[in-house]
Amino acid sequence: MSVLFDRIALIGIGLIGSSLAHDVRRLGLTKQIVVATRSADTLKRAEELGLGDRYTTSSAEAVKDADLIIVSVPVGASESVAKEIAGNLKSGAIVTDVGSTKASVIAQMQPHMPDNVHFIPGHPLAGTEKSGPDAGFPGLFEGRWCIFTPVAGTDETALKRLRGFWEALGSKVDEMDAEHHDKVLAIVSHLPHIIAYNIVGTADDLETVTESEVIKYSASGFRDFTRLAASDPTMWRDVCLHNRDAILEMLARFSEDLAYLQRAIRWGEGDKIFELFTRTRAIRRSIVQAGQDVDAPDFGRPHLLDKK
Ligand code: NAP
Repeated sequence: MSVLFDRIALIGIGLIGSSLAHDVRRLGLTKQIVVATRSADTLKRAEELGLGDRYTTSSAEAVKDADLIIVSVPVGASESVAKEIAGNLKSGAIVTDVGSTKASVIAQMQPHMPDNVHFIPGHPLAGTEKSGPDAGFPGLFEGRWCIFTPVAGTDETALKRLRGFWEALGSKVDEMDAEHHDKVLAIVSHLPHIIAYNIVGTADDLETVTESEVIKYSASGFRDFTRLAASDPTMWRDVCLHNRDAILEMLARFSEDLAYLQRAIRWGEGDKIFELFTRTRAIRRSIVQAGQDVDAPDFGRPHLLDKK
């Protein structure tokens, strides 16, 4: 593949930043990768993993002469990063991010962006429950969506260049406004994580069973929530605080629907329960058809215990 940007600066080198580094290198999309992260420990690890060509703990230093800057830090840190890099951005550079909430990131970053750079907020819908530079791997973005939420007046050529970058990583690109993104993500991502954190927390509070039965019998359903509930606490705290309105709206709807189900169970209304469970089963089929999961039993897990 050909070089798309001469120099790429990766600000933040956790799961997303390091996955980007692997792919950019593998696909030859740049001549130079500059890695920046705030702590010396993470920087050292990134260097050991060979994720970049240059390394620094200064974001301001990293963005000098970079043609593409990708900010991959918890969304609550967006403003401080924007302030730090603003004075050193090259004219014509593209600044993008990967944050899971968009209206808040725009509010934090846009006011600090100079007129001569292109700020294009983005969000790849790809990830795992792991974090840090060791968690990244090549191919994370393959076949996944990346959503841009461009601000008014965004330069079409810059948009096209950034689209080409994500497409080179194997992503499919969509565009929508930030408020719409935040609403959609509240239901498809944020609410499921909050429910998972909550159910795992509830089980943990039932101290008499947590140490034994909950873990022992977890394969009957609980286990699937624990994967989401093991996600990075800083990242998810920030998502909750920075997409507050949409999350609260979805939680209110969720509570109403839960009350409906609760009532149906209480009154033995089997037809209502059956109708809901049939409808939800069809959603799973659509996700498989859309290529966003595989149709293997138990989410394709190898049954290690069976092999013993
Ligand atoms: P991560 O693995 O935890 O890495 C976070 C990176 O941000 C590290 O380099 C860390 O630096 C740096 N950082 C942490 N707090 C910071 C602060 N206050 N100021 C400046 N830098 C800070 O996180 P990640 O999973 O890659 O997530 C990064 C972004 O991607 C988040 O905005 C998240 O919403 C978004 N995202 C995540 C996923 C996912 O599944 N994980 C998917 C899509 C989008 P040090 O280690 O040096 O402190």
